[in-house]
Amino acid sequence: MNPIALAIHGGCGVLPKSDLTEEEWAQARTDLAVALRAGWSIIEGGGSALDAVEAAVVVMEDSPHFNAGHGATLNEQGFHELDASIMDGASLAAGAVALARHIRNPIRAARAVMESGEVVFIGAEAADAFARDHGLDMVEQAYFTTRRRVDALAAMKARVVAGTVGAATEAEKHGTVGAVALDRHGHLAAATSTGGFTNKAVGRIGDSPVIGAGTYARDGACAVSGTGQGEFFIRHAVAHEMASRVAYLGETVETAAAKIIHGDLAKYGIGAGLIAVGADGSVTLPFNTPGMFRGWVTPDGQTHVATHK
Ligand code: ASP
Repeated sequence: MNPIALAIHGGCGVLPKSDLTEEEWAQARTDLAVALRAGWSIIEGGGSALDAVEAAVVVMEDSPHFNAGHGATLNEQGFHELDASIMDGASLAAGAVALARHIRNPIRAARAVMESGEVVFIGAEAADAFARDHGLDMVEQAYFTTRRRVDALAAMKARVVAGTVGAATEAEKHGTVGAVALDRHGHLAAATSTGGFTNKAVGRIGDSPVIGAGTYARDGACAVSGTGQGEFFIRHAVAHEMASRVAYLGETVETAAAKIIHGDLAKYGIGAGLIAVGADGSVTLPFNTPGMFRGWVTPDGQTHVATHK
């Protein structure tokens, strides 16, 4: 039987262990495990990698512990603008939304854009209108807002005044959720969803909805979802770079990812991580921050979740 594989991340902006109670850490790990099971049950049953990555991301968007959907970061004006994308490695079909303000699950909207078959990328009010027209769940902004993100915005604003933004921890700044999968038919898929950066400019779009930067999947090469300062992922076309290294240099996903995260991106001093699955089912989850929420399933069906190094 062909191998199947699944990996997820909840962003490389993980809080120091001491900042959450044991109960909160346990809840975050539980939500990662639920996301893994949601995706794994689909591919284990012969379903598609595309459905699996969407299902896993929906669980993390609904969790308050990650920066996507409910629990997303606030921008400089104190509201949410959400970005998401999804890609099918079999057909190279892809869909993305950026700057969405009322779509409960932006990844579902990205999928709907992909299925529409007409365009790949829809932004701002048009993304919300598209989702509404396609019958997706729409919510008020307050649905996305959590106490932690309100506090993080206030702390970041104080840092701007004090001139200490550079000393902000990765956790104060950002996060993202993503999933990559290989199904029994040998097809790869990737999905990513984010609230972006705390205190980001209104209208700022990161790498997460940009196909080739934060998300990419191509059968025979790999599926990739990134997390970290999006501007650098866009400049380096990180997710596509992964696929190129694997396809043209014959590197394993592990080698390619290490070269990008610990090589190409190292000189910028930014937080960065990614998850990738290769056409053979091999999985890699590198990051350069103190932690990255992450999970993977080993071929025997065992789920694994981790937060710090
Ligand atoms: N990549 C996201 C962005 O730049 C943030 C993150 O992954 O932490 O919007």
